[in-house]
Amino acid sequence: MKNLLTIAGSDSSGGAGIQADLKTFSAHRVFGMSVITAVTAQSTRGVFAVQDIDPGVIKKQIEAVFEDIAVHGIKIGMVSQIQTIQVIAETLKQYPYKNLVVDPVMISKSGFDLLQPEAKAALISHLLPMATVLTPNLPEAEEITGMKVQNLEDMKKAAVKIHSLGPAFVLIKGGHLQGDAMDILYDGSSFTTYTTKRVATKNTHGTGCTLSSAIAANLGKGESIQVAIKHAKAYITTAIEHSFSIGRGPGPVHHFY
Ligand code: PLP
Repeated sequence: MKNLLTIAGSDSSGGAGIQADLKTFSAHRVFGMSVITAVTAQSTRGVFAVQDIDPGVIKKQIEAVFEDIAVHGIKIGMVSQIQTIQVIAETLKQYPYKNLVVDPVMISKSGFDLLQPEAKAALISHLLPMATVLTPNLPEAEEITGMKVQNLEDMKKAAVKIHSLGPAFVLIKGGHLQGDAMDILYDGSSFTTYTTKRVATKNTHGTGCTLSSAIAANLGKGESIQVAIKHAKAYITTAIEHSFSIGRGPGPVHHFY
């Protein structure tokens, strides 16, 4: 059995965050574990409150897992505030962690700040250099680079810039553009492009969480980066195709169909 850890926030409506990560892990037949960084009160209509977990308790959760269980891959999602980022970076460095996928979660599709604006610099300086793969979407790539990212050429320039901040691989997700969903992977010397057809639906809650967890699960199972991303992209595309409405806002993607 491969054991995968998500370090992320809870979404009470079950579509994103820890809940999406654990569903993705199960669908990939790996054992899912979770370190909770924050609890959100959330529905398909938005995020209504956030309670950050005490940094000391985040540290204890990470240590409890690593002191006892072999961790084959990790996904980091919502990290919310500076103290959370610092404690995750410092605690993970106590262990020979591997296959670390960092999703630089900043603002939810509903417009809520899942990362406090003042914590952006800490995310960049502490977590980016630790990442095996960093998975920004276009708004996140813009926040990290300070440049406009509006087409394929911009995505390539942003990927080079973000790579220089430390992650081994950068996957910029082009889902916010029109047309086919095109993502670009940069490994420090060359680009790989992943293209899937766009699925027309408003039910895309949790797509970023799901993709990054699927990449971590595939890496944990021993796939190469390129193959892990190819399979994860196929997984999220099918999960979006099977997404459904459960409330009044954008519904979740589907992990079992
Ligand atoms: N809630 C939590 C806890 C998350 O981690 C995320 C994204 O990472 C979201 C909500 C946002 O989900 P979306 O933007 O797909 O609606």
